[in-house]
Amino acid sequence: FAPWSDPNAKPLISFENITKRFGDAVAVDNLSLNIFEGEFFCLLGPSGCGKTTLMRMLAGFEQPTAGRITLAGQDLAGVPPYRRPVNMMFQSYALFPHMSVEKNIAFGLKQDGLPKAEITSRVEEMLRLVQLERLAKRYPSQLSGGQRQRVALARALAKRPKLLLLDEPLGALDKKLREATQFELMDIQHELGMTFVVVTHDQEEAMTMADRIAVMDQGHLAQVATPGEIYEQPKTRFIAEFVGDVNILEGNVMGQENGLWRVQTPSADAPLTIDDPDEVLHSGQAVAIAVRPEKMVIQRDPPGPNARNVLTGEVWDIGYLGDWTVYRVKLASGAILRVTRANASRFVENPIDWDEQVYVTFAPNAAVILAE
Ligand code: ATP
Repeated sequence: FAPWSDPNAKPLISFENITKRFGDAVAVDNLSLNIFEGEFFCLLGPSGCGKTTLMRMLAGFEQPTAGRITLAGQDLAGVPPYRRPVNMMFQSYALFPHMSVEKNIAFGLKQDGLPKAEITSRVEEMLRLVQLERLAKRYPSQLSGGQRQRVALARALAKRPKLLLLDEPLGALDKKLREATQFELMDIQHELGMTFVVVTHDQEEAMTMADRIAVMDQGHLAQVATPGEIYEQPKTRFIAEFVGDVNILEGNVMGQENGLWRVQTPSADAPLTIDDPDEVLHSGQAVAIAVRPEKMVIQRDPPGPNARNVLTGEVWDIGYLGDWTVYRVKLASGAILRVTRANASRFVENPIDWDEQVYVTFAPNAAVILAE
């Protein structure tokens, strides 16, 4: 399933040169984007980057200042929200206060005139999904914020719309429930063949759920790609730093040798060797080398004379996370690296300790070069 890489595939949703201004402020700036049927699509970005505004234009609650949005080829200009085949679950859930949980979930189904037995079975299914079976008779005022959010989610999903927009759908849930619900949402979306567009500022959530992620930065699209591409091949420093943890080593390009870039950096004695053949760089150019923490290796013993990309420093602190241990290593240049190591067994003999002198290395193909 990868319609975005098929040049003949017709998008379900198409934003064409969309700009949205509020007075002098530009919330969305000449943005073009295609979303395909059956996709689980995430809009990811920091607060204020324009994610919600983009969704509200799709749902019809805001009009673009310029540009065109089409849905299945139809221009949406002038089509009111209730005429658009789009369902939206809002950040503020807008539950009916005078209706019980089950009545809230059933509401849209009743309006659509579904048979009673079908409504009952769908409501039960949804209550199970969001783990609220025991609270079916309660009213919204008797629920916690997280529970209300689950009711809103159940209500939005119950109608099985072809296209569902979700604005921070899991924001009020605790970590465990959020993670479980992420997989439930993926299962539902997959089973029902729905198209999901989810707004989130939580990069882990986007990485887990999305087929593709659009990273937004100040009204622009910084990158649109699969989670793997975004993580492994971030296009800019902003993306590398926003999605996941990363070490940035600043330096200058010295040239190319056997197809590998040589980069001089104050963080290492010898020039770095980086395998990033797609980059077009020139000698002297300032660049940032991005290396993910799990792609760095930390060791006590000096690496052999042929080792590449050797950084020396001392252990500044150690964080034990159960599945991982995080080492922060201070280099002579003052830079602090973050290096993670998977805890593959329960006991480590003679573990690396605070204040120890250590060597950190990484392979030439573990790093990405980002032009500054
Ligand atoms: P958050 O994650 O905080 O909801 P966001 O990425 O969804 O942020 P938007 O809500 O789309 O961001 O807002 C983008 C920009 O447009 C912000 O600078 C915001 O202040 C501005 N903005 C949004 N709606 C309005 C409005 N109705 N009037 C004026 N400015 C607005």
